[in-house]
Amino acid sequence: MDGGGKNIWIIANWKSNKTIQEALDWISAVGPKLEKRENLKVVICTTFTAIEEVKKAVMVGNYPLIVGSQDLSPFPEGAYTGEEPAIILKQFAELSIIGHSERRQNFGETDEMVSKKVKQALDNQITPLVCVQGKETQVPEGVKLIAYEPIFAIGTGNPDTPENANEIAENFKEKYGIEVLYGGSVTSKNVKDFVTMDNINGVLVVGASLDPEEFVRIVQNAIR
Ligand code: PEP
Repeated sequence: MDGGGKNIWIIANWKSNKTIQEALDWISAVGPKLEKRENLKVVICTTFTAIEEVKKAVMVGNYPLIVGSQDLSPFPEGAYTGEEPAIILKQFAELSIIGHSERRQNFGETDEMVSKKVKQALDNQITPLVCVQGKETQVPEGVKLIAYEPIFAIGTGNPDTPENANEIAENFKEKYGIEVLYGGSVTSKNVKDFVTMDNINGVLVVGASLDPEEFVRIVQNAIR
């Protein structure tokens, strides 16, 4: 693998897409095509509705896929209507995306809430993947994995340049000693340009992850 043996994370975020059946069809199409490699970490972040069935399908198929969620509650279990707490989610999720820009924009998520969610994740052995929108975004204590996702690049077909993403990643690495992913209009055509950058440890993909064939190409091109 390129990149000097560093970890390569390829993380799919389906957002609010896919019925349980569509999710299972995706797993059967992608799972058997994934190579097992020590430093390749392929993650699928499903809806809460599909997560249990997806987890079962991954285990039954023995696929090299890590199952994750797209969010979790800032609170523990208890009287928090509508929330999914980490202590319950950990039955299925090994990783959780936290602080995506859509949650900050549409649901009023603040840095304080992001920190509370990170704490819940860490207390329950779920890896928090914190999304940062630029150099100034705060990274809460204990976080080891972040995704740099500039808003202009999200879902627009207009990715940041690999060089700029690498420079931002270097900043975060130097400041916090963590792994940094890039997210924003990643496809099978540009993934290699990002993952071969010294300071980039993989990608967070939404639009191009929904189609199983394109997602398999993304993984293959990333490790070739
Ligand atoms: C995102 O929404 O986090 C994202 C990276 O979207 P896309 O891959 O579709 O640009």
